[in-house]
Amino acid sequence: MGYKIAIDGPAGAGKSTIAKNIAKQLGFIYVDTGAMYRAMALYLLSEGIDLKDEQAVSINCADAYITIKYENNEQVVYLNGENVNGMIRTEQVSKAASLTSVNPNVRKKLVELQQKLAQDTDVVMDGRDIGTCVLPDADVKIFLTADSRVRAERRCKELEQKGEKCDIDVIEKDIKERDYKDMTRDISPLVAAEDAVLIDSSYMTIDEVAEKIIKMSIKY
Ligand code: C5P
Repeated sequence: MGYKIAIDGPAGAGKSTIAKNIAKQLGFIYVDTGAMYRAMALYLLSEGIDLKDEQAVSINCADAYITIKYENNEQVVYLNGENVNGMIRTEQVSKAASLTSVNPNVRKKLVELQQKLAQDTDVVMDGRDIGTCVLPDADVKIFLTADSRVRAERRCKELEQKGEKCDIDVIEKDIKERDYKDMTRDISPLVAAEDAVLIDSSYMTIDEVAEKIIKMSIKY
Protein backbone atom coordinates (compact mmCIF):
# COMPACT_ATOMS: atom_id res chain seq x y z
CA MET A 1 0.00 0.00 0.00
CA GLY A 2 2.64 2.53 1.04
CA TYR A 3 2.36 5.54 3.36
CA LYS A 4 0.71 8.59 1.79
CA ILE A 5 1.12 12.24 2.75
CA ALA A 6 -1.18 14.65 0.87
CA ILE A 7 -0.44 18.39 0.83
CA ASP A 8 -2.98 20.73 -0.72
CA GLY A 9 -3.29 24.48 -0.77
CA PRO A 10 -3.25 27.63 -2.89
CA ALA A 11 -0.44 28.78 -5.17
CA GLY A 12 2.69 29.95 -3.40
CA ALA A 13 1.91 28.56 0.05
CA GLY A 14 5.19 26.61 -0.04
CA LYS A 15 3.74 23.19 -0.84
CA SER A 16 6.43 21.98 -3.22
CA THR A 17 9.39 23.20 -1.16
CA ILE A 18 7.97 21.59 1.96
CA ALA A 19 6.84 18.40 0.23
CA LYS A 20 10.32 17.96 -1.28
CA ASN A 21 11.95 18.54 2.09
CA ILE A 22 9.73 15.94 3.80
CA ALA A 23 10.16 13.40 1.00
CA LYS A 24 13.93 13.71 1.31
CA GLN A 25 13.92 13.32 5.10
CA LEU A 26 11.59 10.30 5.01
CA GLY A 27 13.00 8.71 1.85
CA PHE A 28 9.60 8.91 0.09
CA ILE A 29 9.01 9.82 -3.55
CA TYR A 30 7.69 13.32 -4.20
CA VAL A 31 4.97 13.85 -6.77
CA ASP A 32 4.32 17.43 -7.91
CA THR A 33 0.89 17.22 -9.56
CA GLY A 34 0.90 20.93 -10.55
CA ALA A 35 3.79 20.15 -12.90
CA MET A 36 1.55 17.69 -14.75
CA TYR A 37 -1.22 20.29 -15.21
CA ARG A 38 1.47 22.71 -16.36
CA ALA A 39 2.84 20.21 -18.92
CA MET A 40 -0.68 19.65 -20.23
CA ALA A 41 -1.21 23.42 -20.53
CA LEU A 42 2.13 23.77 -22.34
CA TYR A 43 1.01 21.13 -24.83
CA LEU A 44 -2.33 22.84 -25.50
CA LEU A 45 -0.61 26.23 -25.88
CA SER A 46 1.95 24.82 -28.28
CA GLU A 47 -0.83 23.29 -30.39
CA GLY A 48 -2.54 26.70 -30.57
CA ILE A 49 -5.73 25.40 -28.92
CA ASP A 50 -8.25 27.98 -27.68
CA LEU A 51 -8.00 27.27 -23.95
CA LYS A 52 -11.52 28.50 -23.28
CA ASP A 53 -12.98 26.06 -25.83
CA GLU A 54 -13.95 23.14 -23.61
CA GLN A 55 -14.54 20.73 -26.47
CA ALA A 56 -11.22 21.49 -28.15
CA VAL A 57 -9.36 21.04 -24.85
CA SER A 58 -11.24 17.79 -24.14
CA ILE A 59 -10.34 16.33 -27.53
CA ASN A 60 -6.75 17.52 -27.72
CA CYS A 61 -5.69 16.58 -24.18
CA ALA A 62 -5.85 12.94 -25.28
CA ASP A 63 -2.77 13.50 -27.47
CA ALA A 64 -0.54 14.75 -24.65
CA TYR A 65 1.50 11.85 -23.38
CA ILE A 66 2.80 12.92 -19.98
CA THR A 67 5.19 10.80 -17.95
CA ILE A 68 7.22 11.34 -14.82
CA LYS A 69 10.72 10.07 -14.22
CA TYR A 70 13.07 10.52 -11.30
CA GLU A 71 16.57 11.62 -12.27
CA ASN A 72 19.13 12.54 -9.59
CA ASN A 73 16.28 12.58 -7.06
CA GLU A 74 14.42 15.23 -9.08
CA GLN A 75 11.00 14.79 -10.65
CA VAL A 76 11.32 15.28 -14.39
CA VAL A 77 8.19 15.77 -16.48
CA TYR A 78 8.24 14.45 -20.03
CA LEU A 79 5.74 15.70 -22.57
CA ASN A 80 5.56 13.48 -25.64
CA GLY A 81 9.11 12.32 -24.93
CA GLU A 82 10.61 15.75 -24.24
CA ASN A 83 11.89 16.95 -20.85
CA VAL A 84 9.80 20.10 -20.23
CA ASN A 85 10.93 20.96 -16.68
CA GLY A 86 12.58 24.16 -17.90
CA MET A 87 9.48 25.36 -19.76
CA ILE A 88 6.57 25.02 -17.35
CA ARG A 89 7.29 27.68 -14.70
CA THR A 90 6.43 30.82 -16.70
CA GLU A 91 3.50 33.08 -15.82
CA GLN A 92 1.94 32.23 -19.20
CA VAL A 93 1.93 28.52 -18.41
CA SER A 94 0.66 29.20 -14.83
CA LYS A 95 -2.35 31.02 -16.19
CA ALA A 96 -2.95 28.43 -18.91
CA ALA A 97 -2.78 25.58 -16.35
CA SER A 98 -5.31 27.30 -14.15
CA LEU A 99 -7.67 27.63 -17.15
CA THR A 100 -7.28 24.10 -18.53
CA SER A 101 -7.29 22.28 -15.18
CA VAL A 102 -11.05 22.90 -14.97
CA ASN A 103 -11.59 20.49 -17.85
CA PRO A 104 -13.00 17.08 -16.75
CA ASN A 105 -11.04 15.11 -19.37
CA VAL A 106 -7.78 16.77 -18.39
CA ARG A 107 -8.45 16.01 -14.72
CA LYS A 108 -9.49 12.39 -15.35
CA LYS A 109 -6.34 11.68 -17.32
CA LEU A 110 -3.98 13.29 -14.82
CA VAL A 111 -5.68 11.93 -11.68
CA GLU A 112 -5.34 8.39 -13.06
CA LEU A 113 -1.66 8.98 -13.70
CA GLN A 114 -1.18 10.38 -10.17
CA GLN A 115 -2.96 7.43 -8.55
CA LYS A 116 -0.79 5.03 -10.54
CA LEU A 117 2.38 6.82 -9.41
CA ALA A 118 1.34 6.53 -5.76
CA GLN A 119 0.44 2.86 -5.96
CA ASP A 120 2.41 0.59 -3.63
CA THR A 121 4.94 3.23 -2.67
CA ASP A 122 5.56 5.77 0.10
CA VAL A 123 4.71 9.15 -1.33
CA VAL A 124 4.39 12.86 -0.56
CA MET A 125 2.07 14.37 -3.15
CA ASP A 126 1.11 18.02 -3.47
CA GLY A 127 -1.61 19.79 -5.42
CA ARG A 128 -5.15 21.08 -4.96
CA ASP A 129 -7.30 17.94 -4.74
CA ILE A 130 -4.94 15.30 -3.35
CA GLY A 131 -6.64 14.81 0.03
CA THR A 132 -10.15 15.13 -1.40
CA CYS A 133 -9.91 13.26 -4.70
CA VAL A 134 -6.57 11.71 -5.73
CA LEU A 135 -5.65 10.03 -2.41
CA PRO A 136 -8.78 10.20 -0.23
CA ASP A 137 -7.30 7.50 2.05
CA ALA A 138 -4.00 9.34 2.62
CA ASP A 139 -2.47 8.73 6.06
CA VAL A 140 -1.74 12.43 6.65
CA LYS A 141 -3.59 15.30 4.98
CA ILE A 142 -2.35 18.87 5.19
CA PHE A 143 -4.01 22.05 3.92
CA LEU A 144 -1.21 24.59 3.67
CA THR A 145 -2.08 28.27 3.32
CA ALA A 146 -0.36 31.63 3.65
CA ASP A 147 -1.44 35.24 3.38
CA SER A 148 -1.67 36.31 -0.31
CA ARG A 149 0.80 39.19 0.19
CA VAL A 150 3.35 36.84 1.75
CA ARG A 151 2.87 34.42 -1.14
CA ALA A 152 3.39 37.22 -3.67
CA GLU A 153 6.58 38.29 -1.85
CA ARG A 154 7.93 34.73 -2.04
CA ARG A 155 7.13 34.50 -5.75
CA CYS A 156 8.83 37.88 -6.40
CA LYS A 157 11.95 36.73 -4.60
CA GLU A 158 12.06 33.61 -6.78
CA LEU A 159 11.70 35.68 -9.97
CA GLU A 160 14.34 38.17 -8.85
CA GLN A 161 16.75 35.34 -8.12
CA LYS A 162 16.28 34.25 -11.73
CA GLY A 163 17.12 37.81 -12.80
CA GLU A 164 13.53 38.60 -13.80
CA LYS A 165 11.72 41.81 -12.90
CA CYS A 166 8.59 41.69 -10.83
CA ASP A 167 5.75 43.91 -9.69
CA ILE A 168 4.46 42.62 -6.38
CA ASP A 169 0.96 44.09 -6.86
CA VAL A 170 0.57 42.36 -10.23
CA ILE A 171 1.84 39.06 -8.81
CA GLU A 172 -0.55 39.29 -5.85
CA LYS A 173 -3.46 40.02 -8.20
CA ASP A 174 -2.54 36.97 -10.36
CA ILE A 175 -2.28 34.77 -7.26
CA LYS A 176 -5.72 35.88 -6.05
CA GLU A 177 -7.23 35.27 -9.50
CA ARG A 178 -5.75 31.77 -9.64
CA ASP A 179 -7.00 31.01 -6.11
CA TYR A 180 -10.46 32.18 -7.10
CA LYS A 181 -10.51 30.00 -10.24
CA ASP A 182 -9.18 26.97 -8.34
CA MET A 183 -11.66 27.39 -5.47
CA THR A 184 -14.79 28.01 -7.51
CA ARG A 185 -14.47 25.44 -10.31
CA ASP A 186 -17.12 22.70 -10.48
CA ILE A 187 -14.83 19.69 -10.47
CA SER A 188 -12.38 19.06 -7.62
CA PRO A 189 -12.24 22.65 -6.38
CA LEU A 190 -9.46 23.66 -4.03
CA VAL A 191 -10.92 22.93 -0.61
CA ALA A 192 -9.52 21.43 2.57
CA ALA A 193 -10.52 17.78 3.09
CA GLU A 194 -12.67 17.33 6.20
CA ASP A 195 -9.88 15.40 7.89
CA ALA A 196 -7.04 17.73 6.78
CA VAL A 197 -4.89 19.62 9.27
CA LEU A 198 -4.71 23.33 8.47
CA ILE A 199 -1.27 24.97 8.57
CA ASP A 200 -0.72 28.68 7.91
CA SER A 201 2.88 29.08 6.76
CA SER A 202 2.87 32.92 6.62
CA TYR A 203 5.16 33.32 9.59
CA MET A 204 6.77 29.88 9.75
CA THR A 205 10.04 28.74 8.21
CA ILE A 206 10.20 25.79 5.80
CA ASP A 207 11.91 23.68 8.45
CA GLU A 208 9.25 24.48 11.05
CA VAL A 209 6.44 23.42 8.73
CA ALA A 210 8.29 20.29 7.58
CA GLU A 211 9.00 19.29 11.19
CA LYS A 212 5.36 19.73 12.14
CA ILE A 213 4.22 17.45 9.30
CA ILE A 214 6.88 14.84 10.00
CA LYS A 215 5.75 14.72 13.65
CA MET A 216 2.21 13.98 12.44
CA SER A 217 3.62 11.14 10.36
CA ILE A 218 5.40 9.77 13.42
CA LYS A 219 3.50 6.47 13.31
CA TYR A 220 5.46 5.78 10.18
O1 C5P B 1 0.78 23.92 -8.06
P1 C5P B 1 0.97 24.69 -9.35
O2 C5P B 1 0.91 26.15 -9.17
O3 C5P B 1 2.18 24.25 -10.11
O4 C5P B 1 -0.30 24.27 -10.24
C1 C5P B 1 -0.59 24.89 -11.46
C2 C5P B 1 -2.11 24.86 -11.68
O5 C5P B 1 -2.53 23.52 -11.91
C3 C5P B 1 -2.96 25.37 -10.51
O6 C5P B 1 -3.24 26.74 -10.56
C4 C5P B 1 -4.23 24.57 -10.63
O7 C5P B 1 -5.16 25.22 -11.47
C5 C5P B 1 -3.81 23.28 -11.31
N1 C5P B 1 -3.74 22.14 -10.41
C6 C5P B 1 -4.90 21.45 -10.15
N2 C5P B 1 -4.88 20.32 -9.39
C7 C5P B 1 -3.73 19.89 -8.85
C8 C5P B 1 -2.52 20.60 -9.06
C9 C5P B 1 -2.56 21.74 -9.84
O8 C5P B 1 -5.96 21.82 -10.63
N3 C5P B 1 -3.74 18.75 -8.12
